[in-house]
Amino acid sequence: MQEVEITIIGSGVVGLAIAAEIAEEGKEILVIERHEGFGQETSSRNSEVIHSGIYYPKNSLKAELCVEGNQLLYQICDCHQISYQRIGKLIVASNDKEVEGLEVLLAMGRDNGLSDLQILSQKEVQQMEPHINLLSALWSPSTGIIDTHSLMKYFETSAKTAGADFAYGCEVESIEKKPDGYEVGIRDTDGERFSYLSRIVINSAGLCADKVAALAGIDIDVVGYRIHYCKGEYFNLGGGKHKLIHHLIYPPPTTIALGIHTVLDLQGRVRLGPNAFYVNEIDYHVEEAHKKEFLESTRPIFPFVEEADITPDMAGIRPKLQAQGEPIRDFVISHEAALGLPGLINLIGIESPGLTASPAIAKYVKKMIEELL
Ligand SMILES: Cc1cc2nc3c(=O)[nH]c(=O)nc-3n(C[C@H](O)[C@H](O)[C@H](O)COP(=O)(O)OP(=O)(O)OC[C@H]3O[C@@H](n4cnc5c(N)ncnc54)[C@H](O)[C@@H]3O)c2cc1C
Repeated sequence: MQEVEITIIGSGVVGLAIAAEIAEEGKEILVIERHEGFGQETSSRNSEVIHSGIYYPKNSLKAELCVEGNQLLYQICDCHQISYQRIGKLIVASNDKEVEGLEVLLAMGRDNGLSDLQILSQKEVQQMEPHINLLSALWSPSTGIIDTHSLMKYFETSAKTAGADFAYGCEVESIEKKPDGYEVGIRDTDGERFSYLSRIVINSAGLCADKVAALAGIDIDVVGYRIHYCKGEYFNLGGGKHKLIHHLIYPPPTTIALGIHTVLDLQGRVRLGPNAFYVNEIDYHVEEAHKKEFLESTRPIFPFVEEADITPDMAGIRPKLQAQGEPIRDFVISHEAALGLPGLINLIGIESPGLTASPAIAKYVKKMIEELL
């Protein structure tokens, strides 16, 4: 049977970052992706924001890898001509309770090592954003936006240049533990099946990471790996109103998401989104009827937005470990030796800030592999 040293399942931004980080001459690495190219799922359906690391509990993987990933991403962009803008973000408070909430966020951000956060007064914010309503805001200057496609292309090219192989149009259907690793069974787009032996398997399968873990024999309910889909829709802001916004402007976060905010892209477009609601199926349709919810939740901050200004744009789905009504969960990045599966590394629940954290996640996984080898 054919053998490789390391298999990475999934070529979203996380799988690609890992491939780029661990690929080196003489190491046989195979990235398996069911689509015909990289980044066709969540990695191309997000806000493309380089987060700073405010919201996440101290010492969580989300906090640590986001803060590290933020710095790494800016370095990568500078060194490899990947477009980005460090435009900064305002989390705005519109009532007294939200003003208190900003102090809590400030403390959380500082706990996570962010020294550049600042509470700004209404007057200070209105010099930056004259058209919005607010009482005060938390300013995060190190938040930015990035060309995610170019970042993924850069990771893919780096990995290939260092000798990694990519098998696109191939879906992993089975993972069977063998004495020297795992027999990985694959089906290609013509329906042909083949299998090979991989010493190490890295599961970076995004929305399907729980299913892939189950292929290896893990009871995902016992270990808490079941993924819950949480959809986020975006509406485009037209009618010339995009010119009235200059920063990423967020309301205070909710228990499951960051709240409907302005999403600026590098082409100068502005969208509003994403909302957040749990769904049972992966379906990227944007429901026109949700316009009302968008208007209601954004009008307190953006009074100039009229119904005719917003049109359905796109949607993404968050791979959440947090089920509806449950407390937030951290990323799972786990070498499964304790489950009797040495050499299997699972990455589960890599929702936001997974894009920002991707280069730091890659370094974290590299360390795990080094210990393992
Ligand atoms: C609405 C929304 C907004 C977001 N905004 C931000 C943001 O602004 N900033 C930020 O940092 N993060 C953001 N995120 C999070 C970020 O997009 C994700 O954390 C990141 O894209 C996850 O990347 P991934 O590689 O783990 O997953 P994916 O991009 O989903 O890649 C997984 C890949 O695995 C493949 N795969 C699955 N099963 C198999 C199989 N059996 N065989 C072969 N291949 C398989 C899939 O086809 C897919 O290509 C957002 C997410 C959403 C949904």
